[in-house]
Amino acid sequence: MNRLKCQQCGTEYKGRSDKRFCSVACKNGWHAEHRRATRDAVAEIDGYLHRNREILATLMGGTSKVELDRLVLTRTGFKYEYHTGTYLNKEGKIYRIVYDYAWMDFSDQKILIVRKKN
Ligand SMILES: [Zn+2]
Repeated sequence: MNRLKCQQCGTEYKGRSDKRFCSVACKNGWHAEHRRATRDAVAEIDGYLHRNREILATLMGGTSKVELDRLVLTRTGFKYEYHTGTYLNKEGKIYRIVYDYAWMDFSDQKILIVRKKN
């Protein structure tokens, strides 16, 4: 048995060297605090991404491909800098992926929005 210090409450206790907490309550408390910290840290950006997806979905309607003026997208409050990935096609055009949708600069004024096929 080693002398250990609980990561949550600082209490000294004896136990196996791989133990980190003095009790189940401290273990649960530590994990709950870390989940809360992660949730708070990601909430703002998750919100932008979800909102961007909703905007693209609304503009697409039921279609699989839409071309529209960049201004139309800008006016919705779309945040261009937030996306979930990128894709470079054979023509060298970069698609910005937002979950199951993607958009790209088709020309200076035009944006192309596509929906990923299942
Ligand atoms: Zn403890």
